[in-house]
Amino acid sequence: MSTAPLPAWSDRLQGIGCPFCQPRPDSNPHHEKVADLSISSLYLLRNQTYRGYCVLIFNPRHINGLEHLPENEYTAFTADLRRAARAIAATVQPDMMNYATLGNVIPHLHYHLIPRYKTDPRWGAPIWESDLSTMQTTTLPAVAFNRLRDALQAALAA
Ligand SMILES: [Zn+2]
Repeated sequence: MSTAPLPAWSDRLQGIGCPFCQPRPDSNPHHEKVADLSISSLYLLRNQTYRGYCVLIFNPRHINGLEHLPENEYTAFTADLRRAARAIAATVQPDMMNYATLGNVIPHLHYHLIPRYKTDPRWGAPIWESDLSTMQTTTLPAVAFNRLRDALQAALAA
């Protein structure tokens, strides 16, 4: 996800060099912020092969899984997740939504919210292939990307 090489796994697990820890830029080569929610922030991915694909990143600190969250943060984070998913669904009207939290590359709690379409390149399967280099990349023109981000912001405010 980061353009800089990632540190060793043991360091990453502790949050050393973590690109998802705060402070985090609103914009980088991979994604652009849509909004801050109650305990997380939503980012629109620049690769829009799956239209509306966003990542929701937990904000308060470096933590690598839901199992480490106290009840109040769990409740807030899952509410953010549902709110984000509803906004994405309202904006791009997919056939279904994939929710994916892996942490294999960046072990900082985040969810991939991936709208899926019957016409998408991997319908019926996870979007990830074993060889990531064969994954399709789709970059929207800036105007279209910004329009999508704005629509998501409007849906979150609705
Ligand atoms: Zn982190």
